[in-house]
Amino acid sequence: MHPALPLPDVSDDGFVRVRGARENNLVDVNVDVPRGCIVAFTGVSGSGKSSLAFGTIFAEAQRRFLESVAPYARRLIAQGHNPHVDSITGLPPAVALQQRRGAPSTRSTVGTLTTLSNSMRMLFSRAGSYPAGAPRLESDSFSPNTAVGACPRCHGLGIAHTVTEASAVHDPSLSIRDGAITAWPGAWQGKNLRDVVAGLGYDIDVPWRDLPRADRDWILFTEEQPVVEVTPQRDRVAKPYKGRFWSAKSHILHALADSKSETSRARAARFVESGPCDLCGGSGLTQAALAVTFAGHTVAGLNALPLSELAEVLRPTAKLSTATAAVASASSGEMTEVAVTISSDLLGRIEVLLGLGLGYLSLDRKTPTLSPGEMQRLRIATQLRSGLFGVIYVLDEPSAGLHPADAEPLMVVLEQLKASGNSVFVVEHNMDIVRRADWLVDVGPSAGAQGGRVLYSGAVDGLASVKKSVTRRFLHPKAETPTKPRDRRTATRWLGLRGVSRYNLVDLDVDVPLGVLTVVTGVSGSGKSTLVSGVLGDAVREGLRAGRAHTEPAQPDVEADDAAAPPTTIAGVSGLESVDRIVRVDQRPIGRTPRSNLATYTGLFDAVRSTFASTADATGRGYDAGRFSFNVAGGRCETCLGEGFVAVELLFLPGSYAACPDCGGKRYNAETLEIEYRGRNIADVLAMTVDEAAEFLTDIPSAARGLDTLRDVGLGYLRLGQPATELSGGEAQRIKLATELQRARRGHTLYLLDEPTTGLHPADVELLLTQLNKLVDGGNTVVLVEHDMGVAASADWIIDMGPSGGTAGGRVLVSGTPATVAAHEGSRTAPYLAERLS
Ligand code: ADP
Ligand code: ADP
Ligand code: ZN
Ligand code: ZN
Repeated sequence: MHPALPLPDVSDDGFVRVRGARENNLVDVNVDVPRGCIVAFTGVSGSGKSSLAFGTIFAEAQRRFLESVAPYARRLIAQGHNPHVDSITGLPPAVALQQRRGAPSTRSTVGTLTTLSNSMRMLFSRAGSYPAGAPRLESDSFSPNTAVGACPRCHGLGIAHTVTEASAVHDPSLSIRDGAITAWPGAWQGKNLRDVVAGLGYDIDVPWRDLPRADRDWILFTEEQPVVEVTPQRDRVAKPYKGRFWSAKSHILHALADSKSETSRARAARFVESGPCDLCGGSGLTQAALAVTFAGHTVAGLNALPLSELAEVLRPTAKLSTATAAVASASSGEMTEVAVTISSDLLGRIEVLLGLGLGYLSLDRKTPTLSPGEMQRLRIATQLRSGLFGVIYVLDEPSAGLHPADAEPLMVVLEQLKASGNSVFVVEHNMDIVRRADWLVDVGPSAGAQGGRVLYSGAVDGLASVKKSVTRRFLHPKAETPTKPRDRRTATRWLGLRGVSRYNLVDLDVDVPLGVLTVVTGVSGSGKSTLVSGVLGDAVREGLRAGRAHTEPAQPDVEADDAAAPPTTIAGVSGLESVDRIVRVDQRPIGRTPRSNLATYTGLFDAVRSTFASTADATGRGYDAGRFSFNVAGGRCETCLGEGFVAVELLFLPGSYAACPDCGGKRYNAETLEIEYRGRNIADVLAMTVDEAAEFLTDIPSAARGLDTLRDVGLGYLRLGQPATELSGGEAQRIKLATELQRARRGHTLYLLDEPTTGLHPADVELLLTQLNKLVDGGNTVVLVEHDMGVAASADWIIDMGPSGGTAGGRVLVSGTPATVAAHEGSRTAPYLAERLS
């Protein structure tokens, strides 16, 4: 570390003492939290837990760290911010392990993230078996991301782009004149190429498929570019000219490689088939590296194995007791001390990942395809070996995505971090984890302006006497009178999928009941998301696209992530006629820029703008609804273009923002702000919470209805103009749900939700369930992937996947009512479910 680092101020009695915290909704919070402990921060969604743990404690630790490093280094470190807090004492350095999706770099993998790949390369370099006479390779040679290691054909990407007849000619019954070669450009250029082909003596009027094979291959794939005299075919007045021939392949590859225009590149990409590079088999490695083996496997082979199987390959070497000293010249180093040292280090680190329920992942798995929960657990495991001590780890719901059976090993890992002399602060909703913390900080009592206070800070049991706490009731559930169970619904129809294959699902048959609420359960990696978000989504979307005219377009974000996913094979689908719409309600942001917000997303803002436009003042001045938009010129502030803030260069901290000097953050120009409805201008309305707006806009039915549904899903505390980028995943999901509920239509919509309770306090989960049940009562179908056993116990139907993760999963173990599943031998879900049903 930098020699000028100030000594952490830890000379006091072992507490982090926060005074006067006012970040976001925190109300001048004072709280003392012990170091060297596992501390759980609880409270309903929006209460201010993250504002305290991440926004204040972690942010202040990071700010101090940034201050201690040289300015030029500061630029390289992700920006922090200055938290609104009077003082924090006893604060050691902090490391945040938040649930962020991996960097969108396609080269980042489980292996690079955990640094296990480095050791694998070392193992192959020093201890692999080499072909006779081959020299030992340096460890970089086993990485496709290095100059020496990359396959020369695909440059280490493992993917090759090829133009095939099928990708270039979409309808072989057309003639060239009628546009058989879809891959050629349109308009003048396309006509020109057609004329060139005619000039070369080919028949451009017979159907493409009737041309001789050799001619077709030449026209599509040749690299020759003859120039011929062309007589324009249709346009009689045009003069003959010289034209150059481009085969479909040359044209496409040229457009992909050289075109400056994003749209021509995107167009060209539609005419190539992408597949594994045939030289390296998709590994991205050189032939020399692929010739080296360990225990009979290539490095690419080992990288593709699930970690649970990789552990078994390494174990015999790791446990070897009679290893010989390494001999540099030997063709195999497998039985040497070096091999034992490296493989036992690898095995130790992999076993931590197995303990965290991640044994189904492989080292070559790309990080952008991991769920946020999987990412965070990988980071936690990596930290165990970092050797850091005396730091605070701040974690965001480490139990996310974890089956109850895996909560125990997670606690063990958190205890290990603590035992190495660290503090572990977790924002957590899973009461099984919270109960085992050493200390509890409960924030509340409610969300937004009704939250932001610390209701309790102390040993976990002490919360029992804090009447105001919403958390109390869930921490000690037995003390509460159980709510009367709802009658279980039975399926009206069934959606049957036959012969489904994708990832670890192999030739699976599954029946999904319609008109009820179904929960899909199973340990991490068993195939729940693949089944629900992948297969079920694809099958129904495909079926609807093919079959029905009255299908509405799905939500715009539905298919965005699926572009790179491998195709699903489904032998047969039945029951599609009973579904007429499919909607995935996920936790992805409702917009990626501060220009979208709650009001714009739900359509509520349209009603507000027309209301302002119809006031006497506005009509007098000729202001229409567009005048009240902050996205187009006219009514908005032109200094900040309606954003309300401007970017400023501050002390080498990139990406700092300040309120706009002209409108002061109001987003509109002065004239627009002169228009008032019931004494408030448009900026005032955007600043209102949903609760306030519901009262203020009560006379405008279209707005009032939307606001009521937002309150029903527990979002009354959000401000209408709160930018999409400031909303949590759970908030985004509930906004989407409210937008659906507002449609208030009887229908046969299939709603798919993947772990909707992530980030939700048990009290929020109750609200969510009430709303989902309303959708089902309206004739719709809801299918959720869920680990929360309370939710599973309340479902009409459960599909339990398993028995384990990865190749040891992918089957439907049992499906039926919660009672049926709870009684099933061999299901890891059964005992936890049974506990909830008793
Ligand atoms: P929790 O972690 O308990 O769900 P948060 O600390 O994320 O709650 O949020 C507390 C309150 O602060 C909520 O009303 C939330 O909408 C608001 N909030 C969160 N982040 C921001 C932000 N970046 N800017 C403004 N308000 C925010
Ligand atoms: P669950 O939802 O039950 O946790 P998943 O459906 O995410 O399980 O994963 C099931 C299996 O499919 C696992 O072996 C996982 O590694 C694999 N898998 C899931 N997504 C991908 C992907 N994008 N690329 C490769 N393998 C994947
Ligand atoms: Zn290659
Ligand atoms: Zn402005």
